[in-house]
Amino acid sequence: MERKRPAFLSIRRSGTPRRNASDRVRDYREFVGELSTELIHQQSSRCMDCGVPYCHTGCPLGNMIPDFNDMVHRSRWEQASRRLHATNNFPEVTGRICPAPCEEACTLNLEGAAVNIKAIERQIATQAWSAGLIRPQPAATKSGKSVAIVGSGPAGLACGQQLARAGHDVVIYERDDRIGGLLRYGIPDFKLEKELIDRRLDQIRAEGVVFRTSVEVGVDVELDTLRTQHDAVVLAAGSTRARELEIPGRGLTGIHLAMDYLCQQNRAVAGDVVEDQISAQGRTVVVLGGGDTGADCVSTAIRQGARTVEQIELMPRPPEQRREELPWPYPPMVLRQSAAEEEGGHRQWSIQTRRFIGKGGVQGLEAVRLQWTAQKPDAARLTPQPGEIVAVEADMVFLALGFLGPEADAFVAAGVELTPRGNVEVDDRYMTAIPGVFACGDMRRGQSLVVWAIWEGRQTACAVDAVLCGRTDLPASPHTAPLVPPVFSR
Ligand code: FAD
Repeated sequence: MERKRPAFLSIRRSGTPRRNASDRVRDYREFVGELSTELIHQQSSRCMDCGVPYCHTGCPLGNMIPDFNDMVHRSRWEQASRRLHATNNFPEVTGRICPAPCEEACTLNLEGAAVNIKAIERQIATQAWSAGLIRPQPAATKSGKSVAIVGSGPAGLACGQQLARAGHDVVIYERDDRIGGLLRYGIPDFKLEKELIDRRLDQIRAEGVVFRTSVEVGVDVELDTLRTQHDAVVLAAGSTRARELEIPGRGLTGIHLAMDYLCQQNRAVAGDVVEDQISAQGRTVVVLGGGDTGADCVSTAIRQGARTVEQIELMPRPPEQRREELPWPYPPMVLRQSAAEEEGGHRQWSIQTRRFIGKGGVQGLEAVRLQWTAQKPDAARLTPQPGEIVAVEADMVFLALGFLGPEADAFVAAGVELTPRGNVEVDDRYMTAIPGVFACGDMRRGQSLVVWAIWEGRQTACAVDAVLCGRTDLPASPHTAPLVPPVFSR
């Protein structure tokens, strides 16, 4: 009898559908769609169920990917949802905006055709929500302890949800007027629609978590006060200190920090009236910084009707092929076309801005083209040499140059210590230098990814629960370090 060929040999990877670029730039609705249920069944069957599932090592949360792939293939959506939620509090978020290191590590990625894990994860969440499978899970018994969490981004929310499920009374303090951190006021709606956050917040509220918005800890209430009111405090206030560019001309009008710009647009989409909103309509825009934040500025400027949008990056253009020093299953760090480029943005690499030009308002910038050369004997290290001077026209500039660390002055004044990199220092229980005060998320590890923020929140919840109760039954995630090849970890 002829044996059936395994699905990974007979079925190709299907790309995830995206709205056409010329259509999607007319609104702020999400542009990445979902595969049909039939296709998801097929795609999940491509999982090889490897003896050693490398996808696990790629996923910071340790999502049990081969298990839920198999369940989806068998249409066991409820089981798949339970398995996914066992390690991930917000799969509807990671299924949309995670860069999917699991797919980089998938064994089928050796051939460049990983299982479409991210789309499967998103579909599990969609199916579970629409079938009413995601319900509040309040604790059966209360511990009598209370925990304050500072910051309502994914780290604070994951931590709060876990602690509430362990029976603690949780209050989350948020300085903004709405809950969600960068999910709400950083990441644009075209990547993540905010109804998704609201729906999840209803579940978290129903599990007993209390939210206090427009309360800035360190200003409206002191950390010491929270310490007296609660048995533990978790700092999850993000890494929001933007890197500046102190060069001549910085004071010209028309030069803005990326987060001021993105936050305003998210507020406008939410229906708020934003006084004097920064608008790129009709402007010649330059975005300095080649990362995700920069790309989000490019896409936003295009949606606002910018004349042209140029994204300028200091670092060299990544290679198109995986380099030898980065074998599978490490992240390949290759060039990828960004969604912003599909929409009409243009990227330039190896350019260092020296000064802004203009009178009153910015009219352009003067920059130098860099030549990056390999350092012997370490071919992985590149150093820049200045080349030709270039002039770039711009009457609006966004600075998306990364983040330096948390806004921690009030916490440091209260006794919290920082690492040499400026993040909050904790011990192996996630406890800061102040007994009973913990820290997690970007505030502890520096600006990172949502998937890491969720991981941090979950780990810290375990640590807090163990300190408060002497033991914990909360599930710990498996990883302690990202999969970074030795050559880049020095
Ligand atoms: P945050 O999300 O920053 O939340 C911290 C919260 O603490 C905020 O709500 C803040 O208002 C509050 N807070 C701060 N100080 C106080 C105080 N004193 N009192 C009370 N509240 C306070 N990651 C991805 O995985 N995929 C993406 O596509 C992606 N896109 C991004 C786009 C942009 C523009 C940015 C800036 C980041 C992006 N990230 C992305 C990164 C991701 O958003 C962060 O890593 C993640 O949100 C960090 O979570 P967090 O909970 O640690 O902090």
